[in-house]
Amino acid sequence: MRFDERDIMFARINYEPGTKIYEEYYKKNPEKKEMDDFLRSLPGFMVEEAFSFDPLNSGLVNGTYRFLGDLKKNAEGKTSDEKHEVDKDTISSKLKHIAKYYGADLVGITEMKDVFYYTHRGREKEHHGQKVENTHKYGIVFAVELEKNMVNRAPRLGQSLETTRGYVKAGMIGMILSYYLRELGYDARNHMDGNYLLTAPFTAEAAGLGQLGRMGILITKEYGPRVRLGVVTTDLELNTDQRENFGMKEFCKICNKCAENCPSGAIDEEAPGQLNGEERWKTEVEKCFKVWQMSGTDCGICISSCPFAQNLDLEKINKMKDNPEVMRDILREYNKENKERPYNESEHEWL
Ligand code: SF4
Ligand code: SF4
Repeated sequence: MRFDERDIMFARINYEPGTKIYEEYYKKNPEKKEMDDFLRSLPGFMVEEAFSFDPLNSGLVNGTYRFLGDLKKNAEGKTSDEKHEVDKDTISSKLKHIAKYYGADLVGITEMKDVFYYTHRGREKEHHGQKVENTHKYGIVFAVELEKNMVNRAPRLGQSLETTRGYVKAGMIGMILSYYLRELGYDARNHMDGNYLLTAPFTAEAAGLGQLGRMGILITKEYGPRVRLGVVTTDLELNTDQRENFGMKEFCKICNKCAENCPSGAIDEEAPGQLNGEERWKTEVEKCFKVWQMSGTDCGICISSCPFAQNLDLEKINKMKDNPEVMRDILREYNKENKERPYNESEHEWL
Protein backbone atom coordinates (compact mmCIF):
# COMPACT_ATOMS: atom_id res chain seq x y z
CA MET A 1 0.00 0.00 0.00
CA ARG A 2 1.30 3.45 -0.98
CA PHE A 3 0.46 6.49 1.14
CA ASP A 4 -1.30 9.55 -0.23
CA GLU A 5 0.38 12.74 1.02
CA ARG A 6 -3.02 14.47 1.03
CA ASP A 7 -3.93 12.30 4.05
CA ILE A 8 -0.96 13.12 6.24
CA MET A 9 -1.52 15.48 9.16
CA PHE A 10 0.96 18.10 7.86
CA ALA A 11 -1.15 18.43 4.72
CA ARG A 12 -4.58 18.29 6.39
CA ILE A 13 -3.77 20.98 8.96
CA ASN A 14 -3.35 23.50 6.11
CA TYR A 15 -6.70 22.88 4.39
CA GLU A 16 -8.57 26.17 4.75
CA PRO A 17 -12.37 26.14 5.12
CA GLY A 18 -14.04 27.62 2.07
CA THR A 19 -11.32 26.54 -0.37
CA LYS A 20 -11.75 23.95 -3.12
CA ILE A 21 -9.09 21.72 -1.53
CA TYR A 22 -10.97 21.74 1.79
CA GLU A 23 -14.38 21.06 0.25
CA GLU A 24 -13.13 18.24 -1.97
CA TYR A 25 -11.05 16.59 0.70
CA TYR A 26 -13.77 16.40 3.36
CA LYS A 27 -16.38 15.35 0.79
CA LYS A 28 -14.22 12.31 0.20
CA ASN A 29 -13.16 11.91 3.84
CA PRO A 30 -16.10 13.12 5.96
CA GLU A 31 -14.99 11.07 8.97
CA LYS A 32 -11.88 13.28 9.34
CA LYS A 33 -13.62 16.66 9.18
CA GLU A 34 -14.67 17.14 12.79
CA MET A 35 -11.29 16.23 14.24
CA ASP A 36 -9.35 18.27 11.68
CA ASP A 37 -11.57 21.34 12.24
CA PHE A 38 -10.90 20.98 15.96
CA LEU A 39 -7.13 20.69 15.46
CA ARG A 40 -7.12 23.76 13.23
CA SER A 41 -8.98 25.70 15.93
CA LEU A 42 -6.14 25.16 18.44
CA PRO A 43 -3.38 27.77 18.81
CA GLY A 44 -0.81 26.17 16.46
CA PHE A 45 2.89 25.79 15.90
CA MET A 46 5.08 28.63 17.30
CA VAL A 47 2.17 31.07 17.64
CA GLU A 48 1.68 33.57 20.44
CA GLU A 49 -1.30 31.77 22.00
CA ALA A 50 0.63 28.49 22.45
CA PHE A 51 2.08 27.99 25.92
CA SER A 52 5.71 27.64 24.81
CA PHE A 53 5.72 30.93 22.88
CA ASP A 54 8.75 33.15 23.24
CA PRO A 55 8.97 36.13 20.87
CA LEU A 56 12.72 35.84 20.24
CA ASN A 57 13.14 32.07 20.07
CA SER A 58 9.85 31.20 18.35
CA GLY A 59 10.85 33.73 15.71
CA LEU A 60 14.10 31.84 15.16
CA VAL A 61 12.23 28.56 14.60
CA ASN A 62 9.67 30.23 12.33
CA GLY A 63 12.37 32.07 10.38
CA THR A 64 14.23 28.80 9.85
CA TYR A 65 11.08 27.12 8.52
CA ARG A 66 10.62 30.07 6.17
CA PHE A 67 14.18 29.54 4.93
CA LEU A 68 13.44 25.82 4.45
CA GLY A 69 10.36 26.85 2.47
CA ASP A 70 12.59 28.88 0.13
CA LEU A 71 15.25 26.18 -0.05
CA LYS A 72 12.82 23.42 -1.02
CA LYS A 73 11.86 25.29 -4.20
CA ASN A 74 15.24 24.11 -5.54
CA ALA A 75 14.52 20.42 -4.97
CA GLU A 76 14.31 19.80 -8.72
CA GLY A 77 16.34 21.33 -11.51
CA LYS A 78 17.59 21.12 -15.05
CA THR A 79 19.92 18.24 -15.84
CA SER A 80 23.07 19.06 -17.79
CA ASP A 81 22.86 18.13 -21.50
CA GLU A 82 26.27 16.53 -21.34
CA LYS A 83 26.25 13.12 -19.66
CA HIS A 84 29.50 12.02 -17.98
CA GLU A 85 30.17 8.31 -18.01
CA VAL A 86 30.79 7.24 -14.42
CA ASP A 87 31.99 4.01 -12.88
CA LYS A 88 29.28 2.59 -10.59
CA ASP A 89 31.63 1.66 -7.72
CA THR A 90 33.43 4.99 -7.84
CA ILE A 91 30.35 7.19 -7.95
CA SER A 92 28.48 5.19 -5.27
CA SER A 93 31.38 5.59 -2.89
CA LYS A 94 31.93 9.24 -3.86
CA LEU A 95 28.30 10.20 -3.22
CA LYS A 96 28.50 8.74 0.28
CA HIS A 97 31.73 10.60 0.95
CA ILE A 98 30.22 13.85 -0.29
CA ALA A 99 27.19 13.42 1.97
CA LYS A 100 29.48 12.89 4.96
CA TYR A 101 31.77 15.74 3.93
CA TYR A 102 28.79 18.08 4.04
CA GLY A 103 27.67 16.82 7.44
CA ALA A 104 25.72 13.54 7.16
CA ASP A 105 26.32 11.11 10.01
CA LEU A 106 24.87 8.01 8.32
CA VAL A 107 24.48 7.29 4.60
CA GLY A 108 23.06 4.37 2.63
CA ILE A 109 21.80 3.67 -0.88
CA THR A 110 18.71 1.69 -1.82
CA GLU A 111 16.82 0.66 -4.90
CA MET A 112 13.50 2.50 -4.67
CA LYS A 113 10.26 0.55 -4.48
CA ASP A 114 6.93 1.98 -5.60
CA VAL A 115 5.63 1.61 -2.08
CA PHE A 116 8.14 4.18 -0.78
CA TYR A 117 6.62 6.92 -2.97
CA TYR A 118 3.40 8.78 -2.19
CA THR A 119 0.56 8.26 -4.67
CA HIS A 120 -0.27 11.99 -4.77
CA ARG A 121 1.20 15.24 -3.46
CA GLY A 122 -0.64 17.04 -0.70
CA ARG A 123 1.35 19.61 1.23
CA GLU A 124 1.65 22.53 -1.15
CA LYS A 125 -1.37 24.21 -2.70
CA GLU A 126 0.24 24.50 -6.13
CA HIS A 127 0.98 20.75 -6.36
CA HIS A 128 -2.00 19.45 -4.39
CA GLY A 129 -3.48 16.33 -5.97
CA GLN A 130 -0.65 15.83 -8.49
CA LYS A 131 0.15 12.17 -9.08
CA VAL A 132 3.63 11.07 -8.06
CA GLU A 133 4.96 9.34 -11.18
CA ASN A 134 8.14 9.04 -13.26
CA THR A 135 9.91 8.17 -10.07
CA HIS A 136 13.65 7.53 -9.84
CA LYS A 137 15.12 4.08 -9.37
CA TYR A 138 17.76 4.78 -6.70
CA GLY A 139 17.72 6.66 -3.41
CA ILE A 140 20.70 8.01 -1.47
CA VAL A 141 19.49 8.30 2.11
CA PHE A 142 21.28 10.17 4.86
CA ALA A 143 20.70 10.95 8.52
CA VAL A 144 21.98 13.88 10.55
CA GLU A 145 22.31 13.51 14.28
CA LEU A 146 20.39 15.91 16.52
CA GLU A 147 22.17 17.15 19.65
CA LYS A 148 21.20 15.05 22.62
CA ASN A 149 21.08 17.94 25.08
CA MET A 150 18.69 19.85 22.86
CA VAL A 151 16.44 16.87 22.21
CA ASN A 152 16.34 16.23 25.95
CA ARG A 153 14.72 19.64 26.38
CA ALA A 154 11.52 18.23 24.82
CA PRO A 155 8.77 19.45 24.72
CA ARG A 156 10.29 22.92 25.04
CA LEU A 157 11.52 25.21 22.31
CA GLY A 158 15.12 23.96 22.34
CA GLN A 159 13.94 20.64 20.93
CA SER A 160 12.05 22.36 18.10
CA LEU A 161 15.01 24.53 17.26
CA GLU A 162 17.19 21.43 17.04
CA THR A 163 14.65 19.84 14.71
CA THR A 164 14.89 22.81 12.35
CA ARG A 165 18.70 22.68 12.49
CA GLY A 166 18.53 19.02 11.45
CA TYR A 167 16.19 19.82 8.57
CA VAL A 168 18.43 22.61 7.34
CA LYS A 169 21.50 20.38 7.44
CA ALA A 170 19.72 17.51 5.66
CA GLY A 171 18.18 19.90 3.13
CA MET A 172 21.57 21.41 2.25
CA ILE A 173 23.28 18.02 1.90
CA GLY A 174 20.49 16.90 -0.41
CA MET A 175 20.87 20.08 -2.48
CA ILE A 176 24.59 19.51 -2.98
CA LEU A 177 24.10 15.86 -3.99
CA SER A 178 21.22 16.57 -6.37
CA TYR A 179 22.91 19.58 -8.01
CA TYR A 180 26.07 17.50 -8.43
CA LEU A 181 24.23 14.57 -10.04
CA ARG A 182 22.43 16.87 -12.45
CA GLU A 183 25.76 18.50 -13.29
CA LEU A 184 27.02 15.02 -14.26
CA GLY A 185 24.00 14.64 -16.56
CA TYR A 186 21.73 12.44 -14.40
CA ASP A 187 18.29 13.45 -13.22
CA ALA A 188 18.10 13.82 -9.44
CA ARG A 189 15.71 15.23 -6.86
CA ASN A 190 16.20 16.37 -3.28
CA HIS A 191 13.46 15.19 -0.89
CA MET A 192 13.63 17.50 2.12
CA ASP A 193 11.42 18.98 4.81
CA GLY A 194 8.03 19.93 3.39
CA ASN A 195 8.90 18.56 -0.05
CA TYR A 196 9.23 14.79 0.12
CA LEU A 197 7.59 12.70 -2.60
CA LEU A 198 8.23 9.65 -0.46
CA THR A 199 8.13 8.32 3.07
CA ALA A 200 11.69 8.85 4.29
CA PRO A 201 11.63 6.33 7.20
CA PHE A 202 10.69 3.39 4.91
CA THR A 203 13.34 4.43 2.41
CA ALA A 204 15.96 4.80 5.15
CA GLU A 205 15.11 1.38 6.56
CA ALA A 206 15.63 -0.20 3.12
CA ALA A 207 18.99 1.58 2.82
CA GLY A 208 20.18 -0.03 6.06
CA LEU A 209 20.16 3.11 8.24
CA GLY A 210 17.97 1.62 10.97
CA GLN A 211 14.60 0.05 11.67
CA LEU A 212 11.15 1.44 12.33
CA GLY A 213 10.22 1.07 15.98
CA ARG A 214 7.11 1.35 18.11
CA MET A 215 6.90 5.14 17.72
CA GLY A 216 6.72 4.71 13.93
CA ILE A 217 9.88 6.58 13.01
CA LEU A 218 13.35 5.36 12.14
CA ILE A 219 15.51 4.13 15.03
CA THR A 220 19.19 4.05 14.17
CA LYS A 221 21.66 1.94 16.12
CA GLU A 222 23.92 4.94 16.65
CA TYR A 223 21.51 7.73 17.63
CA GLY A 224 18.14 6.04 17.95
CA PRO A 225 15.33 8.30 16.67
CA ARG A 226 17.47 11.39 17.39
CA VAL A 227 18.07 12.10 13.67
CA ARG A 228 16.56 13.92 10.70
CA LEU A 229 16.47 12.24 7.31
CA GLY A 230 17.08 13.38 3.77
CA VAL A 231 16.81 11.46 0.50
CA VAL A 232 18.10 12.20 -2.99
CA THR A 233 16.59 10.07 -5.72
CA THR A 234 18.26 9.62 -9.09
CA ASP A 235 18.28 7.61 -12.31
CA LEU A 236 22.01 6.99 -12.06
CA GLU A 237 22.75 3.28 -11.46
CA LEU A 238 24.29 2.85 -8.00
CA ASN A 239 25.46 0.08 -5.69
CA THR A 240 22.93 -0.55 -2.97
CA ASP A 241 23.20 -1.37 0.72
CA GLN A 242 21.48 -4.15 2.61
CA ARG A 243 18.60 -3.59 4.93
CA GLU A 244 19.56 -4.65 8.46
CA ASN A 245 17.47 -6.37 11.10
CA PHE A 246 19.28 -5.78 14.39
CA GLY A 247 16.32 -6.80 16.57
CA MET A 248 14.64 -3.41 16.99
CA LYS A 249 11.07 -4.67 16.83
CA GLU A 250 11.74 -7.35 19.45
CA PHE A 251 13.36 -4.72 21.67
CA CYS A 252 10.33 -2.41 21.31
CA LYS A 253 8.08 -5.26 22.44
CA ILE A 254 9.80 -5.28 25.85
CA CYS A 255 10.44 -1.54 26.13
CA ASN A 256 7.34 0.64 25.59
CA LYS A 257 8.97 3.80 27.04
CA CYS A 258 7.84 6.09 24.21
CA ALA A 259 4.21 5.02 24.68
CA GLU A 260 4.40 5.33 28.47
CA ASN A 261 5.80 8.86 28.26
CA CYS A 262 3.64 10.19 25.42
CA PRO A 263 1.30 12.81 26.95
CA SER A 264 -1.47 12.12 24.43
CA GLY A 265 -1.56 8.33 24.32
CA ALA A 266 -0.87 8.49 20.57
CA ILE A 267 1.64 5.63 20.52
CA ASP A 268 0.36 2.08 20.27
CA GLU A 269 1.00 0.09 23.47
CA GLU A 270 -0.19 -3.19 21.97
CA ALA A 271 1.49 -5.73 19.73
CA PRO A 272 2.24 -4.46 16.22
CA GLY A 273 -0.18 -4.95 13.33
CA GLN A 274 0.69 -5.68 9.69
CA LEU A 275 1.45 -3.21 6.92
CA ASN A 276 2.78 -4.24 3.51
CA GLY A 277 3.75 -7.63 4.90
CA GLU A 278 5.68 -6.19 7.87
CA GLU A 279 5.03 -5.78 11.57
CA ARG A 280 4.25 -2.09 12.19
CA TRP A 281 2.83 -0.11 15.08
CA LYS A 282 0.29 2.57 14.27
CA THR A 283 0.53 6.04 15.83
CA GLU A 284 -2.67 8.06 16.27
CA VAL A 285 -1.39 11.17 14.59
CA GLU A 286 -4.42 13.29 15.53
CA LYS A 287 -3.71 12.77 19.24
CA CYS A 288 -0.06 13.64 18.69
CA PHE A 289 -0.90 16.74 16.69
CA LYS A 290 -3.23 18.01 19.38
CA VAL A 291 -0.19 18.26 21.69
CA TRP A 292 1.77 20.10 19.01
CA GLN A 293 -1.06 22.55 18.37
CA MET A 294 -1.47 23.24 22.10
CA SER A 295 2.20 23.46 23.04
CA GLY A 296 3.32 25.27 19.92
CA THR A 297 6.33 22.95 19.57
CA ASP A 298 6.82 19.57 17.93
CA CYS A 299 6.88 17.96 21.40
CA GLY A 300 9.54 15.24 20.88
CA ILE A 301 9.01 13.59 24.27
CA CYS A 302 8.89 10.16 22.61
CA ILE A 303 12.27 10.76 20.97
CA SER A 304 13.97 11.72 24.21
CA SER A 305 12.27 8.77 26.00
CA CYS A 306 13.81 6.19 23.69
CA PRO A 307 16.83 4.45 25.24
CA PHE A 308 18.43 4.39 21.78
CA ALA A 309 18.46 8.20 21.76
CA GLN A 310 20.77 8.25 24.77
CA ASN A 311 23.93 6.65 23.33
CA LEU A 312 23.59 2.99 24.22
CA ASP A 313 26.55 0.65 23.96
CA LEU A 314 26.86 -0.14 20.23
CA GLU A 315 28.65 -3.41 20.89
CA LYS A 316 25.64 -4.66 22.85
CA ILE A 317 23.19 -3.43 20.21
CA ASN A 318 25.11 -5.43 17.62
CA LYS A 319 24.59 -8.56 19.73
CA MET A 320 20.94 -8.12 20.63
CA LYS A 321 19.24 -9.72 17.60
CA ASP A 322 17.62 -13.05 18.56
CA ASN A 323 19.11 -12.61 22.01
CA PRO A 324 16.45 -11.57 24.57
CA GLU A 325 18.97 -11.71 27.42
CA VAL A 326 21.13 -9.01 25.80
CA MET A 327 18.00 -6.90 25.23
CA ARG A 328 16.96 -7.23 28.86
CA ASP A 329 20.50 -6.37 29.92
CA ILE A 330 20.47 -3.19 27.78
CA LEU A 331 17.15 -2.16 29.29
CA ARG A 332 18.27 -2.97 32.86
CA GLU A 333 21.42 -0.87 32.48
CA TYR A 334 19.42 1.97 30.98
CA ASN A 335 16.82 1.89 33.74
CA LYS A 336 19.56 1.93 36.38
CA GLU A 337 20.96 5.17 34.96
CA ASN A 338 17.64 6.75 34.04
CA LYS A 339 14.97 6.51 36.68
CA GLU A 340 12.87 8.91 34.61
CA ARG A 341 12.89 10.25 31.09
CA PRO A 342 16.12 12.19 30.45
CA TYR A 343 15.13 15.83 30.73
CA ASN A 344 17.37 18.86 30.55
CA GLU A 345 15.64 21.48 32.70
CA SER A 346 18.11 24.28 32.20
CA GLU A 347 17.59 26.86 29.54
CA HIS A 348 20.11 26.76 26.73
CA GLU A 349 22.89 29.23 27.50
CA TRP A 350 22.11 31.57 24.63
CA LEU A 351 18.44 30.82 23.96
S1 SF4 B 1 5.61 13.89 19.71
FE1 SF4 B 1 4.74 13.95 21.82
S2 SF4 B 1 2.54 13.69 21.55
FE2 SF4 B 1 3.52 13.07 19.62
S3 SF4 B 1 3.78 10.86 19.78
FE3 SF4 B 1 5.68 11.81 20.51
S4 SF4 B 1 5.40 12.03 22.72
FE4 SF4 B 1 3.39 11.65 21.85
S1 SF4 C 1 11.16 3.97 23.37
FE1 SF4 C 1 11.36 1.76 23.45
S2 SF4 C 1 9.48 1.03 22.48
FE2 SF4 C 1 9.69 3.15 21.91
S3 SF4 C 1 10.78 3.12 19.93
FE3 SF4 C 1 12.33 3.36 21.54
S4 SF4 C 1 13.00 1.27 22.00
FE4 SF4 C 1 11.06 1.13 20.89
